[in-house]
Parts: sequence; C-alpha cells; structure tokens
Amino acid sequence: MAAKWVMPPGRGCRFVRRLSCSYLDQSAADGEQTLSEAVSAPVSDDRLLSAQADLVARSAPGALYFSLAVVGLVSAALWSVARPEWVVAWAVFMVIVGALRYLHLRDYANTSKKDVDIRRFQKWFVVGAAFGGIGWGTCGGFLFPAEDVVYQSFLSFVLSGITAASIIVYSPIKLSARLFLGFALVPLICAHFLRGDQVHFAMGTVVLIYTVFLFRLASIVNNSLINSLAVGFENDELISELKKAKISFEAANQKLKAEIAVRNQTEEELIDARDKAEQGARAKSDFLATMSHEIRTPMNGVLGMTELLMNTELAPKQHRFADTIRRSGEALLAIINDILDFSKIEAGKLDIQHTVFDLRQLVEDTMAFFAEQAHRKKIELFTIFPPDEHAAYRGDPERIRQILMNLLGNAIKFTECGEISVNVTTTEEREDINSLRFEVTDSGVGIEEAHQAHIFESFQQADATTTRQYGGTGLGLAICSRLAELMHGTVGVTSKPNVGSTFWFTIELTRMAASSISDPVKHTIDLSGTRVLVIDDNETNCEILRHQMLNWDMKFYAANSAEHGLKYLKKGAACGKAFDLAVLDRMLPDTDGVDLARRIKGDPEIADTRLIMLSSIDQLEQTGQWYMAGIEVYINKPVRQGELHDAISSALGDRVKRSTAGEGSRDNDASVRENLRDLGAHVLLVEDNPVNQELAKSMLENSGCTVVVADNGQDAFEAIAEAPLDRQQRRYDVILMDCQMPLMDGFDATRKIRKWEAESSDDTPLPIVALTANAMSGERERCLAAGMSDYLSKPFDQEQLARVVKRWLTLDVEMTHMAKQTAQRALPVANSAGAGALADLDNAALNNIRALQKNGSNAILTKIINMYLTNSPQLLEKLQEAAATGNGELLRASAHSLKSASANLGAKKLAELCQQLETLGRDDKASEAVATLGIVEFEFEAVCNALGRELGDKAA
Ligand code: ADP
Repeated sequence: MAAKWVMPPGRGCRFVRRLSCSYLDQSAADGEQTLSEAVSAPVSDDRLLSAQADLVARSAPGALYFSLAVVGLVSAALWSVARPEWVVAWAVFMVIVGALRYLHLRDYANTSKKDVDIRRFQKWFVVGAAFGGIGWGTCGGFLFPAEDVVYQSFLSFVLSGITAASIIVYSPIKLSARLFLGFALVPLICAHFLRGDQVHFAMGTVVLIYTVFLFRLASIVNNSLINSLAVGFENDELISELKKAKISFEAANQKLKAEIAVRNQTEEELIDARDKAEQGARAKSDFLATMSHEIRTPMNGVLGMTELLMNTELAPKQHRFADTIRRSGEALLAIINDILDFSKIEAGKLDIQHTVFDLRQLVEDTMAFFAEQAHRKKIELFTIFPPDEHAAYRGDPERIRQILMNLLGNAIKFTECGEISVNVTTTEEREDINSLRFEVTDSGVGIEEAHQAHIFESFQQADATTTRQYGGTGLGLAICSRLAELMHGTVGVTSKPNVGSTFWFTIELTRMAASSISDPVKHTIDLSGTRVLVIDDNETNCEILRHQMLNWDMKFYAANSAEHGLKYLKKGAACGKAFDLAVLDRMLPDTDGVDLARRIKGDPEIADTRLIMLSSIDQLEQTGQWYMAGIEVYINKPVRQGELHDAISSALGDRVKRSTAGEGSRDNDASVRENLRDLGAHVLLVEDNPVNQELAKSMLENSGCTVVVADNGQDAFEAIAEAPLDRQQRRYDVILMDCQMPLMDGFDATRKIRKWEAESSDDTPLPIVALTANAMSGERERCLAAGMSDYLSKPFDQEQLARVVKRWLTLDVEMTHMAKQTAQRALPVANSAGAGALADLDNAALNNIRALQKNGSNAILTKIINMYLTNSPQLLEKLQEAAATGNGELLRASAHSLKSASANLGAKKLAELCQQLETLGRDDKASEAVATLGIVEFEFEAVCNALGRELGDKAA
C-alpha cells in the first residue's frame, strides 16, 4: 500500500514519502514486528509520532467515558443471564483498565511537550488498547449467554459499536487499533463458531467479515491521517519559509529604501556640488578675463613706454637700464601668459583650433626662432623631419608651436654645449588620423631620476638650485602636458644627469591632402643626379642632409674634414666624375669653411664645383668675404628643407643670383619697417587709460599718423557723428577702439557707429580695430560680431600697431603719401568711388604673369586683372549668399575659386581668408562664416583698389 502511494516530486513530497514509507512499511510488516520495534520510529519522525499521540490523547478520554458507560449497561444487561460474580469481576477489570488508561492520558496532557517521551507514551497507549480489547473480548467470548440468541445479538451489536467507534480513537496508531480490534472481536467470532449450528456459524462469519473490514478501515484511516499530517507539516514548513522570506524581503525592502534615500541625497549633493563647481568655474573665468585685462593693460604701458624710451637719445648706461626694464617686462609678461594659459586650461576655457597647416614649416620656423640663441651658446640645432614624412595636417599649429617653444626653450636653457635636435615621426596611422611623436633631445644638465616624475606637475622644478640658477616658474611643462592631452596625446621624459634629456610628446592630427597646405614647398627644379659632397664633421647634420638630398635623387657623398673633402673632390675630378656641388660647414675641425672654399676655388681641377656655406646666424656680416672666397649661396642652420632646395637650385643655376631666401626676407622686412614709419593716417584713438592713450598716441605719431583721442565710446561716437560739413577733410582713416571703457564700452560704441553709418547711406564703413587686453578665447569673435573690422591684442609694439593701421588705410591717405595721381579713378567694385583701402599685393605673383608677356607689353596682366575685377564680385555675392543660407558646398566652391584667382594675382591675405572660408564650407559650417566674410569683404575691396591702381599705373 505504501509503495502505491505517490506524491509529486519536491521537498514536501520527499518529506511525506519519508514519513509514510518509514511508518507504513513498518506497518505492512507488523506481523513480524515487536511492539517496541513498531513504535521506535526514526528520530526524524518525532514530529509525526507526537502528532499521532496528540490525536489519540485528545479523543481517547471521551471514548473511555463512553466505554465505561457501555460497561455499566452491558453489566446490567448480563446480570440476569450470566453468573453475577463473573460480571462483577469483568466490570471491575474494565474499570481498572479504563482508570489506568485515563491516568496515563492525563499524565501525557499535563506533561510539557518537550519533557514527554513520545515513544514511551505510545508504547503504554498500545498496551492500554490491548487490555481494553482483551476486556471487550472477554465479554464477547466468556460472558456470552449460552442459549439466548437475543442476548448474543445484543452483545454482538454492542461490540460492533464499540469496535466501530474505536476506529476513530485508535486509527492514528495503527497497532493500537489492530490489537484492540483483534482482542475485542476474535473471542466473539470463536464463541459463535464454537456453537456449531448454522445460525451461529452465520453470525460468526458476519462478525469475521466485519472484523476484516474494520482492520482495513483502520489501515485506510491511518494512512490518510498520516498523509494529511505530512501535508500539514509541509504546509507549516512552507508557511514558516514564506514568513521567513517575507521577513527577509521586508528587511531587504527597508535596506533598499535606505539605500535609495542615501543615493537621492548623494545625487542632490552631487548636483549641488556641480552647480557650485560651475559657478566657481564661471567666477574663475570672469576673474581670469578681468585679471588678464588688468595686468596686461599696465604691462602694455611698461613695455611700450620702454620701447619709446629706447628710441630716444640715451646714454649707454641708461640704454642698458631701459633694456633691462624691457627684458624684465617681457619675462614678466611671459610668466603672466603662462599663468593665464594654465588657468585657462584648468577652467576648461582653452579651445583647440582646427586649421590646416604645414607641420614641417611649423617645426622649421620654430627651430629658426631659436637659431640665434643656440648659436650664442655654441649649440648645434637640428630638425629631423624625414623628407617623405607627411606634413599637411588639420589641428592647432599655435598650440603645437607653444609646446615646441617650451621644450626647446628649456633645452637651450639647460644645455651649455653640444646639440639639440627635434625629431618628428608618425607612430600610427588610422583612417585619417595620424599619431605623431615629437622628441626634443639635448646634451644638457639632465635630470635625476627621482625628479623626473614630478617635473610635469605645476610649479615643480627638478631641484631648488635650478630655480636659483636658471629661474622659471615650473609651469611650462605642466602646460605642455595639458596641451598634449587636449590634442589626445601625452608627454614624457628620459634623462641622465650630465648626459642630456629627451622630452617627448605625442598628439593626434587629422591628415590632409598635401595640396591643401596654402603654401607648400614647391620644387620646380629637378636636382636628380646632381653629385654633391657635404663636408661637415657633425654626423647628425650629415645624416639630415643625406635624407633630404637623397629624397631629391641627388648623389650624396660626405667628408668629415677639409682634408678628406679636398681629397674626394680631386678624386672625383680625376676619374671624370666631378662633383657639381660642395656644401661646407662654416666651422670644420681642421680649418675654416671660408679657407676651404678658397682652396677649392684656387685649385683649377676642382674650381668648377659650386659651393654652399652652412652658416650660423651671427656670421652674416662676414658674407662679403664668403662671396669673395667663391661661395655661391649660404644658408643658416638649422637647415630648412625648402631653403636648402632653393639654395642648391640657386648655386647650380646662376652664379650672379647670390641671395638666399633668408636674406631676401630680411630685406623685405627692413623695407616693410621703413614703410611703416610714414603712414600719414588720421587715426581716432578711443582709450580711457591715460598711460595707454599716451603710449598708443606716441607710437602712432612715430609712425607718421595724426591722432585724435576720445576717452570713451560715447565721445568717439560723437566725434564721428557730429562731423562738420567738410567731413572729407576731417574723417578718420582708422578708429582704434579699446573694448572696456566707462560710460560706453567699445562694443556698444562700434554697434552705434555701424548703425549710424547704415542710416547715412553715402558713407563707407570706417575700419574699427579693437584694442583688447583680454586674452580669453572668443574675444576676437565678440569684436567681429559687434561690427569691428580687426583686432589687436595688448600689449602691442609700435610695428604691430603700425602694421594694423597700414592694413586699413584709406585710398585718400595712400594717395597723398605716395603722391600718386590716381585719385579719381573709378574702380570696378561698388562703394569704391574715391575711397577704399589698398591691399598689399605680392609682387612675385604679378611678376610671374609679367614674365609671360612679350616685348614689355602689359596685355596679359591687364587682361587677367580685368577678368578678376569683372568676375570676382559675383563670387563674393555667392559667398554672401552661402553664408546667409548656410550652404556649405556653395561656400566651399566659391571660396576656392576666389582663393585661387586672388593667389594668382598676389592677393595673399585674401587667399588665406578664402582658405578659411573654404575650410568652413568643407566642414559644413557655412553659418559660422559671417564674421570672416566681413573681413573678406574689406580685404576684397582693398585688393580691387590695389589692382585698379595697378591698371592705372600700367595705363599711365
Ligand atoms: P621652468 O623651466 O619655467 O622652471 P618647466 O615646467 O618648463 O618650468 O620645467 C620644470 C623643470 O624641469 C625645470 O625647472 C628643470 O628643473 C626641469 N627641466 C625642464 N627641461 C629640462 C631640460 N631640457 N634639461 C634639464 N632639466 C629640465
């Protein structure tokens, strides 16, 4: 039976199965079991045993009362038919058994559960049930009235009732039920069968069947009781687990609520902190803007006045003092700029620009800047930028220059002799981005390993002696590091004390097509096959030259001394492979480059060799001697690739053409400076600070300008708007406008002037140049947005001021001073009748066109200029339309056309501006072109004016 009983799988199922199997299996085999075996269930079944005991203990007392009542009834009924003494003995037996069982049950009920020995209780309960059964069996078997069927039936009926009722009481403990039933009914069955007649046989049989039925019933009831108890336990267990789960769920819930509350609080605190940080950053950047203005304004006065002072007659001692003031001022300004830069980076205010530039040019220019300093310390400077290395990039050239200047400045500061090199390599290429590594290597004092980790932190120097000996703020490298990070790179150093250091940084730049750099190094002359001998004892230098020359397919040879050099030259000549060219270092170990040149030129065998001198910056006064010695061309170290190519072409091409690119540009510079002395412009200077007023006024007067000063924007506006009738004589050529002033600042004043100009329709916009000491990014855009034409940052020097004024001079002024007779010429652009700025045109470009003409005729140039003047206004209109409608493609295409047309005619500045517009168009930022377009319009007008004058000159 137990085997058939099936429960669903699971924990509850296992539990029930274990209980039922252990118990029922026992029960099934109880024929062979002892009483103690039957009740000694496994310890784990204690709960079931206890529940069974509880059930019987609850129902048995009532059954005992009932059975005692029946004992009384049966005794009374049998009194007359049986022997009274047997009846009394039976009744007494039954009462004693009942009383003992009652006491046993009471003892169980009164004993605390944990002290009860459940097995013992069950054992004695079973014994009690057996005695009860024996009692009733005795009644059925021995008090059985011999002949009286009515009494026999009555007795059978009573026993049936008692045993039927016993099922309810004894079924929880199966053995007790079986013993009771067996002892109670078997004697009655025997008594019936022993009678031998048919009636008794039939009755015995009925009682037997009834007994079997009761056995079966007891079993069924017992099984279902055990099952329901097990399920009950299972339920209890589930309920208690549910309760436990509920408690832990509630605890987790509480914990979660507490965590959410903490998180909410943290979030509020974070938002609060962020708001405060943003407020702080705003305050910091406002403070920076103010500081920048407040410090740079008096610095402008100090530096400018010193410059003016040094232009006056001074005793040598006074000159020295003034020079010290200038240098100290410049040093202070550099420190202020460093601090401002650093603060700008910290405040997140430093934006990285994205312009197209030539990296090679940038590196070479930066090296050239240090050439003189390096030479003074007898340090060799090299640039290692392989010729095949890509050079056209989009990025922030000024920030790269700033890092290089810092590292090179340090390298020169901390190196007493030897070499400094800058090495540029591409370390990784992915899509259109190149990772570049720059290394600045010196042979200087080096840095102890312990200090290397800290020098990139702000205000950190290697050691205290450094500060004393070399000065500095300890900010330079921190700025470099931040700038490199802004360009997605990093910085580092390897160094050995007394051997030298290599400072490196990496950055990422967007690769551009080589053709996108506005002025790429063009090598139109083919140098391939040229046999060149470099005579230089410096290996690095030879290596660099070798790279560059092999790139142009030249035949490269090197010698490390004059003697070797001479030997090679002679050998070459002797075997019919004479060298076309020799590049001589100025300082050779065994002799001087000039001596060597003389010896080469003095030897008829090799005198044909063309000579180039590698010189240093301070030896220029000796160049006369060099030419005498037979040097064709000289170039300054560090050698620039473009210059080297030009120098070789020049040396090989024409002996008369002696000047190098460097010399040419120096000449140009000198003549430009000369031009700036006599501008003759009429300038309205709007400035509230008396020192700056005086300074700018003196500078302008030194440059030949007449100056009217207004103290603030309001006065400036009145000076312009209330111009008398003869405005043509009183009008200003340029307004120089300070930005921050009391009453009305420069921005408001400019807006007011522009509005006034728009209302008085016959007027040409006056050039307004912003003078601002605010170095923060976005200031330039603010000035242009207010309607200003240009921007000059303080502190400025006389040359910078004069250049900006010259840029915006009106045609009237130019005409007066240049004594040209073209005043009444009608120019082909609008608004140019009688007034307009003149742009500087690059003569080289115009000469290129002139070179195309025959017999001194101007036909081609005139034709090209006319074409430009006719077609380009349409391009300008297209640019305006593109900016207004945000059409990037139209902007790019029109700017590109105007750029190349302007570049061909030497309008370099306009071409550069168009390049900026083209880039904006390509980046689909046409709507940002408005500010630049304003300058392009001015510049375009100036170019047209200048070209118009060119036409006039040709016609004259
Ligand atoms: P500054 O030079 O203004 O003190 P930097 O941040 O540029 O500040 O440099 C920090 C320190 O790093 C210097 O003071 C110096 O001790 C060390 N240092 C930098 N460059 C070199 C170098 N090329 N050789 C030796 N020491 C250097």
